[in-house]
Amino acid sequence: MNPSMSRRQFLETAGAVTLSSRAVSAHGIDLPRPARWPQDKLAAISLTFDDAMRTQLDNAVPILNRYGLKGTFFAITGPGSSWLKRIGDWQRLAAEGNEIGSHTVNHPCMLKDIEIHSQNYTPEMMLKEIRDSSQDIAARLGAQRGLTFAYPCGDMTFGPPAEQVRNQAHYLDYVADYYIAARGYNSWAPVVAEDLNPLTVPVLGWTFGKDFSSLLTTMEPVRRGGHWGVFVFHGIGGQWLSITTQTLDELASYLKEHSEIWTATFGDVVRYIQESKALGVQTGGSGFQFLLTWPLDARIYDLPLTLKWTLPSSWKSCSAEADGRPLAISATAKSGFEAVLVDVPPQTKRLLFREK
Ligand SMILES: [Zn+2]
Repeated sequence: MNPSMSRRQFLETAGAVTLSSRAVSAHGIDLPRPARWPQDKLAAISLTFDDAMRTQLDNAVPILNRYGLKGTFFAITGPGSSWLKRIGDWQRLAAEGNEIGSHTVNHPCMLKDIEIHSQNYTPEMMLKEIRDSSQDIAARLGAQRGLTFAYPCGDMTFGPPAEQVRNQAHYLDYVADYYIAARGYNSWAPVVAEDLNPLTVPVLGWTFGKDFSSLLTTMEPVRRGGHWGVFVFHGIGGQWLSITTQTLDELASYLKEHSEIWTATFGDVVRYIQESKALGVQTGGSGFQFLLTWPLDARIYDLPLTLKWTLPSSWKSCSAEADGRPLAISATAKSGFEAVLVDVPPQTKRLLFREK
């Protein structure tokens, strides 16, 4: 990281590192470029669940498991929370590949009728919410990959009206210091990967009371545009702001059947986008060898990237190697020209294609 940058600036501009890489090198050789989504899938969906509720453990998790899907659970970590009451269940969930993010310690928000409300919060109090919940989750899960955050009630500021503009900047700075990305609640839109601001990721809208067909309608612009859609749920088959277990079951079944959609945790989609934007690719001298640079922290940004490469016109097929190890070629002949897809392990330095 550039030492003159704040962590917030860094997260917001990760993609600017190598924007000068072009699709064609100075020698006229096509450069491999990241597919927008892994295996060149059509779109991405994340299923996120707020407030660490017991109906999520009891009703949502068995459904996700039945269809082999992973979810993201944003936990309130304070006294009386189901996070503390059922910590063993949450730890098991994380060990099985689900993501646990933070939703602060006490869920402070601006609504006056919600306790704890945050109009009386000072910057120090909000920093404590953000820092302590991240430390609690990291300590209990041994999380090394970087945590994600969801703003309680979607509020991105706190304090009395006269201080809310200033506090908005504090809030983003604090979140950036402890998390790799954060999800809102009140701004609704598909996420365009190229335009991602990881600190203010919007959702697809409120879901409570909706049935499957209306969730499907919500997803339509995501599919059509090849974007990322983030669902937010609370209670599943009970408790507050709930949808029925049948609705979640139908949605999960749909996502399993539609493997052209990449269903992944919130954090993994952010990792893939940030790595794609930051990857550097240049030709590496002789033959079809390319030198890759991965400027982001390898402990956090640890996903393979799918690179797409157009074969020279005389080639019928090819093999590929990453740092001397053979790579599987996962697709050919996409969209009217001969192209291949390879899943490249993170931190690979040299990628080589050979005619076959
Ligand atoms: Zn909440």
